[in-house]
Amino acid sequence: MIAEPLPLPPLAAPDWRHQWRDAVRDPRQLLALLGLDAHAARISDAAAAQFPLRVPRAFVARMRHGDAADPLLRQVLPLDEEDRIVPGFGIDAVGDTAARTAHGVLQKYRGRALLVATGSCAVHCRYCFRRHFDYAGDTAAAGGWAQAIARIADDPTIDEVLLSGGDPLSLATPKLTELTDALARIPHLKRLRIHTRLPIVLPDRVDDGLVAWLHALPWPVTVVVHANHANEFDGAVDAALARLRDAGAMLLNQAVLLRGVNDSVDALAALSERGHRAGVLPYYLHQLDRVQGTAHFEVDDTRAIALHRALAARLSGYLVPRLVRELPGDPGKRPLV
Ligand SMILES: *Cc1c(COP(=O)(O)O)cnc(C)c1O
Ligand code: SF4
Repeated sequence: MIAEPLPLPPLAAPDWRHQWRDAVRDPRQLLALLGLDAHAARISDAAAAQFPLRVPRAFVARMRHGDAADPLLRQVLPLDEEDRIVPGFGIDAVGDTAARTAHGVLQKYRGRALLVATGSCAVHCRYCFRRHFDYAGDTAAAGGWAQAIARIADDPTIDEVLLSGGDPLSLATPKLTELTDALARIPHLKRLRIHTRLPIVLPDRVDDGLVAWLHALPWPVTVVVHANHANEFDGAVDAALARLRDAGAMLLNQAVLLRGVNDSVDALAALSERGHRAGVLPYYLHQLDRVQGTAHFEVDDTRAIALHRALAARLSGYLVPRLVRELPGDPGKRPLV
C-alpha cells in the first residue's frame, strides 16, 4: 500500500515582526510597485532624509495601482512640497516640550497621563507632528518604565493612562505586559487607553499574544485607532478589529483632516461608515497640527467647518466625529464647532 503524501500545512502569514522589517523604505521602490516610476521627480530626498519613508506592504496592497493621487499613497510619500518653509509651521506645534513631566510622560489634561511608550511606528505619516522629534532617549520604555511609573503612582489625580508614541503596539507584548503589571499596582488608575495605527497598517500585529494580554488587563480598555480614509480598511483589518473587540476593548477612530486625502463630504462619510462596519466609532477629526513640512495638507477652518456641517447633515449623530484642534495651553482639544 502506498501512503498518501501528507497534506502541506497552510502557509502561515509571516510574523508581524517580519512584516515590520520587510516594510518598503525606498520612495522610488514604492512608486515602482505601484507602476508610477514617472512620478519619481517629485520626491524630496531632503524630506526623505529628515523623516524616512516607511510603509508596511500590507498597507501598500490597499493603494490603487497607477494612481499618483491615491489617498493612502499621499499619506506616506515624501514629496517636494514638504521642503517649503511656511510661516506659522514650526517644530513643536502642540507644546509637547512644555507638557513633559517625566521621561516619556506628557500631562496636558486633567486626569490623563500620556506615555510616549516608544518612538517607533510601522508607518511614517508625512503629516505627523512627531516627524521632528527624536525620541531615542525620551521614551517611557527606556529605563524599564521606572520614571513613568513613579510619576503616575505619585499623582492620585491621574485616573487614565494613555499609551501613545510613536505606536505603543510596536513594542513586543512582553514589554507591554511589564508596563501594565506595574500600572496594575497603582490603585487610582481606572482606565487604560491605547492610541495605535498598527491594527490598520499592519493588522497581523493583533496576534494571539496581544489578544491574551488585552483580555487580562484589569481596567476597561479603549483602543483608539487611526484611519483617515475608507480604503485603509480591508478584510484583514476587519478581522484584527474584531479580535480587539472580542478581547473586550472599546474601539474608536481618530482621523486628521488632510487636503487631497479626505477633504470631501463623500470621503469623510465613507470613512465613518466603513469604520462602523468594522465596529469602530468616530472620535476626533483633527485639524492638522501646524508642523513644518505639512502645510500642503492643510484645510482652512472655514472649509473644515463647512465639511463638518455637511457631514452632520448626512450621517447618524454617532457617526459624526468631533472636529478639533490642539493648541498649547488649552485644557483639552478645542472644538471648532
Ligand atoms: C490628546 C491628548 C490626550 C487625550 O485627550 P482626549 O480629549 O481625552 O482624547 C491626553 N494627553 C495628551 C498629552 C494629549 O495630547
Ligand atoms: S505617531 Fe501615528 S500619525 Fe505619527 S507617524 Fe506614527 S502612526 Fe503615523
